[in-house]
Amino acid sequence: MAPDHVPDASLARWQAVSARIEAAVAAAGRAAGSVSLLAVSKFQPADAIRALHAAGQHDFGENYVQEALAKMAELADLDIRWHLIGPLQSNKTRVVAERFDWVHSVDRLKIAERLSAQRPEQLPPLNICLQVNIDDEDSKAGCVPDDLEALAGAVMTLPRLRLRGLMVIPRPGNHAALAALAKTHADLLARLPALSQQPFDTLSMGMSDDLDAAIAAGSSCVRVGTALFGPRPVAASNVTES
Ligand SMILES: *Cc1c(COP(=O)(O)O)cnc(C)c1O
Repeated sequence: MAPDHVPDASLARWQAVSARIEAAVAAAGRAAGSVSLLAVSKFQPADAIRALHAAGQHDFGENYVQEALAKMAELADLDIRWHLIGPLQSNKTRVVAERFDWVHSVDRLKIAERLSAQRPEQLPPLNICLQVNIDDEDSKAGCVPDDLEALAGAVMTLPRLRLRGLMVIPRPGNHAALAALAKTHADLLARLPALSQQPFDTLSMGMSDDLDAAIAAGSSCVRVGTALFGPRPVAASNVTES
């Protein structure tokens, strides 16, 4: 039955994406409920997040720290888990350590060390995914696969972080990168068995266009924007820094 006071379009899109996820999970022969939905709300107004929250969505991903903080202030009455999925500069780590529940985009030790040192004592450890640059030589975002074991080995010892898994943003249509990330995840767990204590259970991959392929390749968390909210409004000028 539909929850009360949820705009029809939000509820319909949320139900359609949830059904698409469960269909892909079933087609892959995976356990029902094994893939979580992260709603990517960059450039979307706080009201759109509120509507999706009313439909039952609790995890939201933002790319830009300043934009996220403004929405957190508007939505302080809601129980939302906030995920940072965009690049993180060292001058923004403190507020991220204080305000977010997850960071999917850690790609160097310096950022991880700052997040651990700055995570407030009264909060649980910050959940971390390491972003891996599988297939994009032109992009500076993401750790190259050759450096990943050393980075993971160092990050897993930081006291105020919990290293949960890996994240990738492949080139559009590159499904081979999805399988490559899943293999990288399994290999890393075999080489660093102590990771399973964290627990190292997250493969953050799949967006509106490739979530089905990502789930077939083993994704545990799909990051979906357009299919949930409709097309993104044009970026506001204050969201390009971060
Ligand atoms: C914008 C974004 C998404 C969502 O993309 P859609 O195609 O709108 O679903 C997912 N992950 C990251 C890192 C993004 O920046």
